[in-house]
Amino acid sequence: MIFHALLIKYAEIAIKGKNRYIFEDALVSRIKRALKSAEGHFSVEKESGRIYVHCPEEYDYEDTIERLKKVFGIVEICPVMIFEDNGIEKMGEDAVSYMRQVHPGYSGTFKIFTRRAKKSFPMTSMEVSAEIGGKILDAMPEASVDVHNPELDIHIEIRERIYIYSLSIKGPGGMPVGTGGRAMLLLSGGIDSPVAGYLMSKRGVVLDAVYFHAPPYTSDRAKQKVVDLAKIVAEYSGPIRLHVVNFTDIQLYIYEKCPHDELTIIMRRYMMRIAEHFAEKCRSLGLVTGESIGQVASQTMRSLAATNDVCTMPVYRPVIAFDKQEIVEIARKIGTFDTSVLPYEDCCTIFVAKHPVTQPSVKAMRASEKKLSEKIDELMAAALETTEVIEIGKE
Ligand code: ATP
Ligand code: MG
Repeated sequence: MIFHALLIKYAEIAIKGKNRYIFEDALVSRIKRALKSAEGHFSVEKESGRIYVHCPEEYDYEDTIERLKKVFGIVEICPVMIFEDNGIEKMGEDAVSYMRQVHPGYSGTFKIFTRRAKKSFPMTSMEVSAEIGGKILDAMPEASVDVHNPELDIHIEIRERIYIYSLSIKGPGGMPVGTGGRAMLLLSGGIDSPVAGYLMSKRGVVLDAVYFHAPPYTSDRAKQKVVDLAKIVAEYSGPIRLHVVNFTDIQLYIYEKCPHDELTIIMRRYMMRIAEHFAEKCRSLGLVTGESIGQVASQTMRSLAATNDVCTMPVYRPVIAFDKQEIVEIARKIGTFDTSVLPYEDCCTIFVAKHPVTQPSVKAMRASEKKLSEKIDELMAAALETTEVIEIGKE
């Protein structure tokens, strides 16, 4: 491949001051991790306020870029060609060689931006830009310089060696995973919760997950679907500890004792309690759901309040104000959509009432739950004890 390195650009505004090195070190470690299983040995280095990925002689360029596009914190990826510093004459030849390989027959406008990290270089940045610009114009007569509104920015960095780049590939943005704490995602097989997990992880949050299944009402295929979704989310978030909770007995007991129109809300209150139990064990600082206002009966504001009533941790709902279509767009972009729409049953849909309450009161829910007092503690303990933990995306 013609590029010797990749310059990683990140948003610097959010990371001024003493937090900067924490952000940079986390980003370097996430990049290393993303490239660990790639072919060839990449070295990732912080060099005077920048991060460079130095590439081996032989590597798979497309695969490398795809991997980096999943590393939160990266705003831009710029493929760089590196030349030895043998004076300005040679630099001109190298810049022309760069242009011929990267933009053959270039006929648009351009501007040269020179940055002189090596202060001993005997010319100013302005002089270098003028000299190299002239050389490119000589070699590419169709091209022209436009210093105000160029179609192409050509960057030259004078370091121990000469770095030239002009391409920019968009990264995912966000913050490096690990800089934002840890949260427990309630991951169902639907469209919304994987997107919610992705969005939290984009803000630097490490994820664990919990899935409630209800065998034999929900199948192994439904569980596998959730495992597959967790794997896709883990490509962005890093390893996820997925807790698979056997929820059948609790659901059946609620079904037996409580008014059927309140089933979903009461079930969801128990899901939250169990999720919180595992969140505490994992030292998580909050729960994450894919709830969105008004999407279904259990997601009216009153229903959300009734569910939230049992939580002591903050509950993060990153898609709360998104339309379904907006969530679908993200699901497609991150690659979870096709798996999410596979038609396997979910525990919530199996015990759902024909006319669920849409305006449940917290008081009524608390009162209904009193009917469960005889056996619920025992059933909860059994559910916690029989929970299976699956390590997703661990190397
Ligand atoms: P999704 O597409 O995320 O399944 P949904 O529109 O189907 O969302 P609900 O089934 O009401 O919505 O669930 C709302 C949220 O509750 C989900 O986004 C998820 O965070 C959580 N949840 C629902 N069912 C389960 C489950 N079986 N296991 C774990 N979490 C669940
Ligand atoms: Mg669902």
